[in-house]
Amino acid sequence: MSDNKKESCGSGCGCHNGAPDESLFNRRNVLKAAGATLGVAAFAKAMAPITEWKETTSVDEFLQTHYRELSNDQLDEVIARLEEETKKDYGADVTITDHRPQMGVKFGYALNLSICIGCRRCAEACHHENNHDRATSNSYIRVLEMTKGSMDMEKGNVHYDHPVPHPDKFYMPVQCQQCDNPPCVDVCPVEATWKEEDGIVVVDYNWCIGCRYCEAACPYHARRFNWKKPVVPKNEINPNQSYLSNRIRPQGVMEKCTFCLHRTREGRMPACLEACPTGARVFGNLLDPHSEIRKVIDTKRVFVLKEELGTRPSFFYFFDE
Ligand code: SF4
Ligand code: SF4
Repeated sequence: MSDNKKESCGSGCGCHNGAPDESLFNRRNVLKAAGATLGVAAFAKAMAPITEWKETTSVDEFLQTHYRELSNDQLDEVIARLEEETKKDYGADVTITDHRPQMGVKFGYALNLSICIGCRRCAEACHHENNHDRATSNSYIRVLEMTKGSMDMEKGNVHYDHPVPHPDKFYMPVQCQQCDNPPCVDVCPVEATWKEEDGIVVVDYNWCIGCRYCEAACPYHARRFNWKKPVVPKNEINPNQSYLSNRIRPQGVMEKCTFCLHRTREGRMPACLEACPTGARVFGNLLDPHSEIRKVIDTKRVFVLKEELGTRPSFFYFFDE
């Protein structure tokens, strides 16, 4: 169940930190108005042909309030409902927690391209940790095989299939860069995606309408769309889940890397880092001058991808000198 709740303003308005911004939550208003006219089921089917719509979907479920507007009691109810649904749909007992950002933390990630060997174990760990659809082998990480001398990620080959590392190549894993100026957030018409205080860009899967604008806007190809309901065998489901990260996503919504916030907000490392056999990955708190990530930033010649776009990634790359 949820923990680390934000404080309500005490006005009974249901917000967490003062008055809610009504512009944030216009999806609810649109849905309520249209639902009153058409009937919720008819409207839902017309509005989102790909989005999962079960005959048993309740009005409450369809009209669920935006995550940032839920009161603590409402959030507990939502989480209980989601845990029950996972039990019914997948047969698995899972715990969905509401991990919140910690004060004084801004996460950053760095990758040493000199020692990445392109083994894709990070991508495989991501696949399992985040309960991705087994049929697709989906992962939030794309490992690009790059020709030495080129730094253009668009020229990288994600489909290489030979023993690694190849002597003429180097390898560049790319995932969400948790941009400080995220174009994906700007384009979302219903504000279903936003940047949290610790720098992680998240999606409320129960608010996303599946328009895929954010996928088109991301210059790093970091977002994934759930074309089908994910299939994960019961005994392979990671039961330690979080509302904003690795709970099993519904069909018809967007998903993305959250730096494993269900782990990192508990002080643990991302699954991809733990799986890396060469130690190419460095993660930590950019605001802590003694952290490993700060040591890298302060002592290596780091660079970011597509700097010219002004996205200001929190993901850095470097080579050993
Ligand atoms: S990398 Fe893409 S998905 Fe991640 S914050 Fe930047 S624009 Fe958004
Ligand atoms: S697909 Fe992306 S842009 Fe569209 S509603 Fe969902 S999060 Fe927002």
